[in-house]
Amino acid sequence: MKTFVGFNYHKTTKRFVAQYKDGQWDSGRMMRKSTVCLSEAACVIQYAQTCFEGLKAYRTKDGHIVCFRLDLNEQRLHDSCERMVIPPIPKEMFFEAVEKVVKANAKWMPSYESGGSLYLRPVVFGKDSVVGVKPAEEFEFRLFATPVGNYFADKVRPLVLRVSDVDRAAPRGTGHIKAGLNYAMSLYAITDAHEKGFDENLYLDPANRTYVEETGGANVLFITKDGTLVTPKSDSILPSITRRSIVTLAKDAGIHVEERRIAISELKDMKECGLCGTAAVISPVGKVKDTQEEYTFSMDDFDNTVLGGLRKKLLGIQHGDISDDHDWIIKVI
Ligand SMILES: *Cc1c(COP(=O)(O)O)cnc(C)c1O
Repeated sequence: MKTFVGFNYHKTTKRFVAQYKDGQWDSGRMMRKSTVCLSEAACVIQYAQTCFEGLKAYRTKDGHIVCFRLDLNEQRLHDSCERMVIPPIPKEMFFEAVEKVVKANAKWMPSYESGGSLYLRPVVFGKDSVVGVKPAEEFEFRLFATPVGNYFADKVRPLVLRVSDVDRAAPRGTGHIKAGLNYAMSLYAITDAHEKGFDENLYLDPANRTYVEETGGANVLFITKDGTLVTPKSDSILPSITRRSIVTLAKDAGIHVEERRIAISELKDMKECGLCGTAAVISPVGKVKDTQEEYTFSMDDFDNTVLGGLRKKLLGIQHGDISDDHDWIIKVI
């Protein structure tokens, strides 16, 4: 089978589609059609009423396909929907959609050896026509799958970040939910960062511009010189499931963990830096450039860093190579 590299959309066989109309969700069904037909005035197009999730199905060595902490994706999508005035997807339908989509597209699942996985993208959006500002009354929920490669196969070099001079979220805004609008806010900054030779933007807290928040699509982790894992705490950060899992694994390993505000100036005291999320697992960060300062981290020998060790442990659990002591794995096939 073809090896997929990178993180791109590749159309697979079937997706789950459900409609919300007249105050309720229908039971949904599997469809071959990958396109969506919308009114030009659909609320999602006019006012960005949409939110999504991102999770992976993993191939294990013994041939099963598993998901990781699905309940947390379901809970987070529920929270995102409530904040976006979108009727939440019934819990059972969310789990059913994952199971059906994984089973229907199992042939797209990269092999265990490739280190790839099947990325699942649940998305919900306001469908009916609006001109005046108001939430939609009809919605569509879709869950599709796309094969993704091993992020590390083509990216061994530690990332170089810059501190962004624009914000991705507002204080008391929507930074804590998975809304497409947060990404719309970040497109200008990421394009500009790439043009200037940086891999990602590191965003500061929008109220004070003093504390580190996260990048456009991943949370940040640091290891201090005395071996403490520190990760930012803020109401405008997206609560990454990867980050929460890494924190648990670190505590299991006897690593001291602090979840607190981290001033950008504190980066000079950090030994290691990494980004974490479903797509990146943990990716090493070698440098963060601010207007005046430049912070560097010793991440070249990633496998032998504390964060590299945690990454290996997490991947081991996800691919069934290490015992799943926290019951995080759900067997789909
Ligand atoms: C999805 C996302 C993350 C990572 O969350 P995971 O649950 O670990 O995949 C981090 N930051 C932002 C802004 C995100 O949208």
